[in-house]
Amino acid sequence: MTGLTIRPKMTARCLAVALATTCTLSAQPGPARWTTPTQSEIDAIFGEADALYVDLHRNPELSFQEVQTATKLAARVKALGFDVTTGIGKTGIVAVLRNGPGPTVMLRTELDALPVEEKTGLPFASTVVAKNAAGQITPVMHACGHDLHMAAWSGTARLMAEHRDRWSGTLMMVGQPAEEGLGGARAMLADGLFVKFPRPDFALSLHDDDTMPSGTIGYHAGLFRSMSDSVTIIVYGRGGHGAMPHNTIDPIVLASRIVLALQTIVSRENNPVDPIVITVGSIHGGTQANVIPDEVRMQLSVRTYTDEVRSRTFAAIRRVAKGEASAAGAPREPLVETPARANPPVFNDPALTQRLSSALKKHLGDASVVEMPAKMTSEDFSEYGLAGVPSVLLHVGAVNPAKLAAARQTGIPVPAPHSPEWAPEREPTLKAAIRAETTALLELLGKP
Ligand SMILES: [Zn+2]
Ligand SMILES: [Zn+2]
Repeated sequence: MTGLTIRPKMTARCLAVALATTCTLSAQPGPARWTTPTQSEIDAIFGEADALYVDLHRNPELSFQEVQTATKLAARVKALGFDVTTGIGKTGIVAVLRNGPGPTVMLRTELDALPVEEKTGLPFASTVVAKNAAGQITPVMHACGHDLHMAAWSGTARLMAEHRDRWSGTLMMVGQPAEEGLGGARAMLADGLFVKFPRPDFALSLHDDDTMPSGTIGYHAGLFRSMSDSVTIIVYGRGGHGAMPHNTIDPIVLASRIVLALQTIVSRENNPVDPIVITVGSIHGGTQANVIPDEVRMQLSVRTYTDEVRSRTFAAIRRVAKGEASAAGAPREPLVETPARANPPVFNDPALTQRLSSALKKHLGDASVVEMPAKMTSEDFSEYGLAGVPSVLLHVGAVNPAKLAAARQTGIPVPAPHSPEWAPEREPTLKAAIRAETTALLELLGKP
């Protein structure tokens, strides 16, 4: 070993090993290789992780405003002996535990919550309101489960720190701001995440999920989460009196035609094996019943998996909007704004997925670790893979099994992430998340 640094939580045993310059950590006699935490090891830290979950759930913060959230997480990992840096990518945190030779493995959690008014009825439901990036006051809720991810991340950090004599390598715990569409991963990378800190050999993350029973771990090799683009269309008409439509060109009727015609891009123009979603999530025009406005603004969410399908879909959206406007005799061509760069798709490195899913099956049991289908939701965890680090995003089922079975029978889905009623089943989900994260890290950092 070279470059010995004594850190506050270094145990006497570790220190003795570190001082023995002629031997390596792996050569030391000691506890057998640690491959997965025991139930009692998880039970011992669950209370603290659960209390953090409740606290974070009660006190959510919007994207790039996660100051208190980051402070809470930073204090915990600092107390465990990590070297902690805050303010990376505005509100992100990086905590590094150098623990001998071996690979560097990054475990990322998101920090941010959503502008959603909570309707879970939980005793610790959020009543927080905050100003969003546009300056509007909005309710705030951890409606995507990032509070659960942070609690699991914290529990995993504690297990890894308290058992550091049983693994070797560098653990890099990352708390990322603004996952919800505002570029938190890019902000951290632009701020030197892989330059100022050790560049990871592997990056892992885990997200809660509404399609699997609580405690089940889901994996998917290859393309897993789609690209996501926000597209704006403004159609122009000629305004006038609501009683005299013949003197106007009604942009509301025109916009309505466009909304319907866009769906034929998906159903009639596209090869069904190339998934596309086009959702018109926002449509605004007019002020009152008897006035025909002169423009309508629409905001679309477009989901695709490949650059080729993405650019073809954009071209089709432009053609449909322009063609419908022409058919309506609109005075101007519509404005169609498409982003230059997509949020890239999540690509789970196949070899790493295989390695981790095998380890998880071995230690958690085949029934608890299942292959899951790809999704059309997007995730900026993809940025780390795009930056060249083999990455895997795992999922953890978060729904009570009886409720999930009932939903499958009735056909009425359970609330999902981003719903005001999204409430993961706490104990089994959090424990499974901690177990899966620790087991995955140990697969990569375990001593030979
Ligand atoms: Zn989300
Ligand atoms: Zn999320």
